[in-house]
Amino acid sequence: MTDFESFRENCLKLRERVAAAESAAARKPGEVKILPVTKNHPIDAVAYAAKLGFKGVGENRVQEAVEKIKSSSLEIEWELIGHLQTNKAKIAAKYFSRIQSLDSARLAQKLDDAAKSEGRMLPVLLEINAGADPAKFGASMDGAAALLESVLALPNLEVQGLMTVAPLDSDLDTASRCFANLRTLRDKLRDSFRIPLPELSMGMSHDLERAIAEGSTMIRVGTFLYGERI
Ligand SMILES: *Cc1c(COP(=O)(O)O)cnc(C)c1O
Repeated sequence: MTDFESFRENCLKLRERVAAAESAAARKPGEVKILPVTKNHPIDAVAYAAKLGFKGVGENRVQEAVEKIKSSSLEIEWELIGHLQTNKAKIAAKYFSRIQSLDSARLAQKLDDAAKSEGRMLPVLLEINAGADPAKFGASMDGAAALLESVLALPNLEVQGLMTVAPLDSDLDTASRCFANLRTLRDKLRDSFRIPLPELSMGMSHDLERAIAEGSTMIRVGTFLYGERI
């Protein structure tokens, strides 16, 4: 992992990339949020982010994140961005400020029960496999409306938007199509259910410009900030 000084420099470079992409897409400067992704890195990665004033970090495994959360007293929000198994719903609802990877009605029911026993509202994003990649998690484009309908019936979950991970492909046009699909889907769901769904979590280190061009409100960035994961 990088040291703090390189992390700080990488942050500056990242902010330049984001600003250029916002400007190219005629979007408001500073509109796109950055979620540093600290998975597979030691707790120092989270400390760096907190020190530079980031509000939250993304982790993709419950077990790894919970160990970090328990061992630190950092003032930061933890977001789950990786696949969540139903048998971990309870612990996830206890430790994460938001779940970005809600991808089935069954998981939604478990999370709602867990949030209720925690006495909290749990913010969630619906993860959609908008690139129809067999290697990726997420509800299908066709299944998204049904999933949203079941989540809206659950009193302890608050749906704030959609999330996707683009298929691995050296051709960035594949990522662009995936991101455009997610945005179109969001617009459709927003109109048919008459709810805002403001958040579009899409874009990572290598495809964030494409995501910002298609309307991303939050990019999730690991490698560009912290270097390669071990
Ligand atoms: C690891 C991960 C990221 C960050 O990817 P980088 O290429 O390292 O920026 C973003 N989103 C999800 C869901 C991830 O698992």
